[in-house]
Amino acid sequence: MLIGAQVPMAGGPLRALEYAVAAGCETMQIFAKSPRRWMGPALDPATAEAFREACAAASFGPVFSHTSYLINMGSEDDALWDRSAEALADELLRAGELGAAGAVVHLGRRFSDDDGESVARVAACALRAQEIAGPSAARLLLENSAGAGRQFGVTAAEMSAALAAVRAAGVDAALCIDTCHAFAGGIDVRSLEGWSTLLAELEAACGPGSVALIHANDCLGELGTHKDRHAWVGEGHIGIDGFGAMFHLPGLAGASVCVEMPGDGPFKDEENVRRLKALRDDAVVRDARGPGPA
Ligand SMILES: [Zn+2]
Repeated sequence: MLIGAQVPMAGGPLRALEYAVAAGCETMQIFAKSPRRWMGPALDPATAEAFREACAAASFGPVFSHTSYLINMGSEDDALWDRSAEALADELLRAGELGAAGAVVHLGRRFSDDDGESVARVAACALRAQEIAGPSAARLLLENSAGAGRQFGVTAAEMSAALAAVRAAGVDAALCIDTCHAFAGGIDVRSLEGWSTLLAELEAACGPGSVALIHANDCLGELGTHKDRHAWVGEGHIGIDGFGAMFHLPGLAGASVCVEMPGDGPFKDEENVRRLKALRDDAVVRDARGPGPA
């Protein structure tokens, strides 16, 4: 499992790659445009190509992009839903241009009190976005939310139903699990058992390897409080064991890991990436030793 961070894009994608490499990242997540806007200036094709080449030359791991926070795939307002599909299409194309392995999106608000209707609304939005974007679209990664207000895509049941429906619509998609959102949403990822329960539920509905990306953020709040407040790895209510468990799960073997931390870069990223790498290295030693007393 490769480990990295959400990296600032202020100086452009090549600068972001330099930042990531210097911070010890093996993979990274970026914003392909301002996440607080619907649309943005077009990417310069030469810059995008130089970025893809630089990533390949550095043998850098997969790059992910995070889409606009304004996108609401479940909106009951048809105009907002249309605008969301168009903005998502734009993000899928930007991610494709940058060679990203996936573009992360939240499911948005619940369409109705009915889960099935809400899932269908999300799947229709994903399909519409892919139709607009065409074949150069990046893979879609559905991220779980903390469950504030009427947010949809919180529980394992909601996430797996949404992924299954999006795939059934013909859209290439996988999941991004944010540990802080999961924990705030009531999913206990403090232990191997908790993680195993979560993965078993996702795999039962969507098959193995459905999680492509983990946002490894600790959580300032307690279990099920629905507050999306990230803490450094091991400094929140999930705790260090919850993050260590990720590296023992065969179902996550193909997933990448990125932190999205508050604080000042590059130290916040260097330090959290270092903590996760130490847990990964420890897991390799323990798994090689086999079952038995630690
Ligand atoms: Zn996240």
